[in-house]
Order: sequence, then structure tokens, then C-alpha cells
Amino acid sequence: MPVFADRAQKPADDKSISPRVVLGLAMAHELGHRLIGPEHQATGIMVKDLQLEQFRRAQQGIRPAFSTEQARRMHTWLQGETLVEKGVPPPP
Ligand SMILES: [Zn+2]
Repeated sequence: MPVFADRAQKPADDKSISPRVVLGLAMAHELGHRLIGPEHQATGIMVKDLQLEQFRRAQQGIRPAFSTEQARRMHTWLQGETLVEKGVPPPP
């Protein structure tokens, strides 16, 4: 899904969070989808819906992260060792 900078303003205003934080988390989340696929997780940056507390914590520098497995998958993908060869479908 594309991320538009101007669409970060309203959620940022609604949450009293910097639009930079909203945009940064949205970009990280969508990049995660591009690199590891459509699934969501119960915790971290790949949760289905980021909550206000996560935005507030991110604004304080405590950002939701990718899991170790997600990071490994992205690293593997970016290195060109395709996961397709290991039975994992490519990102959409
Ligand atoms: Zn998502």
C-alpha cells in the first residue's frame, strides 16, 4: 500500500503526535509488507493497527521493531537469496 506524507497529518493531529512519527511508522510497516509479505503479528511494527501508545512511545524514541525472524527474512531477501527457493512465496 502506498504511503502518502500528506495523509500522516490528520492522524498525527488527532493523536497529538508528530507527523514524522506517523509517517515513519507507516513507511516501516509498509516496507515490511513489501519485503516479508502480507501477514501481521501480535507485537512490533507489523501489528495490524498501531495503537496510540505505540505512537507515543515512538515519539519518545522507543520504536516498535521487527522481530528477529522478520529481520532475518528481510535480510535474506535483500541479499538476493530468494525465499521462493525455500518455499516462501515472494512478497505481493
Ligand atoms: Zn499491515
